Amino acid sequence: MIPGARLIILGRQGAGKGTQCVRLSRHFVVPHISTGDMLRAAVREGTPLGRAAREVMDSGGLVGDEIMVGIVRERLEHDDARTRGYILDGFPRTVRQAEALDEITADRPLDGVIDLDVPRDLVLERLSARRVCRDCGTNYVASGHERQQRICDVCGGDVMHRDDDTPEAINHRLDLYEQQTSPLIEYYGGAGRLMVVDGVATPDTVFNELTAAVEASRRN
Ligand code: ADP
Ligand code: ZN
Repeated sequence: MIPGARLIILGRQGAGKGTQCVRLSRHFVVPHISTGDMLRAAVREGTPLGRAAREVMDSGGLVGDEIMVGIVRERLEHDDARTRGYILDGFPRTVRQAEALDEITADRPLDGVIDLDVPRDLVLERLSARRVCRDCGTNYVASGHERQQRICDVCGGDVMHRDDDTPEAINHRLDLYEQQTSPLIEYYGGAGRLMVVDGVATPDTVFNELTAAVEASRRN
């Protein structure tokens, strides 16, 4: 395995994308850049960005392209991303964002774009049971009969139901995914840059297929 990679992971929310991206970032020794995590941190800290994004996020809407492109452009300039690469999670989410990313990365092109594919009805089920550590973002699955506040195994933070994981917001996010994000499959697919990995299998199988897809794309 060669360390370093520049990857985009696409896929519906709740497809297990976050967890796989964390594993990929350890495997390739590159930062995991999650725009959702960055926005949630901004909301927690009450920065101007957080104040602007909060309502949109709670309703399951998309934060404006210009804001998002600015955040990602800035983050990709940091040393770690410049020298080793990154796993980009949650960005791009619109064709406009993908076009901007092509400009940003023109001098250091991507190794690959992977679509982690999980059907909508399965995602709905998984998202409703999703719980997440408010401090480190680790995901958990609710068993349905927890009485006590759960504590994160990784960092000891509080494990919460996300404010935007209500059925309404979930459905809205999934609708937006079909309208705004699924055109990216064609955007990258048409240029021969897309790899599709079936996200329904066990997490270990999915992870092995993800790394195999990256290695295969490097040989080409
Ligand atoms: P999920 O974990 O459900 O896939 P994320 O954590 O990636 O969702 O993002 C949470 C919310 O943050 C989104 O619903 C959206 O409001 C906002 N967001 C994150 N990334 C983007 C982006 N690239 N463009 C617009 N909005 C974004
Ligand atoms: Zn944690």
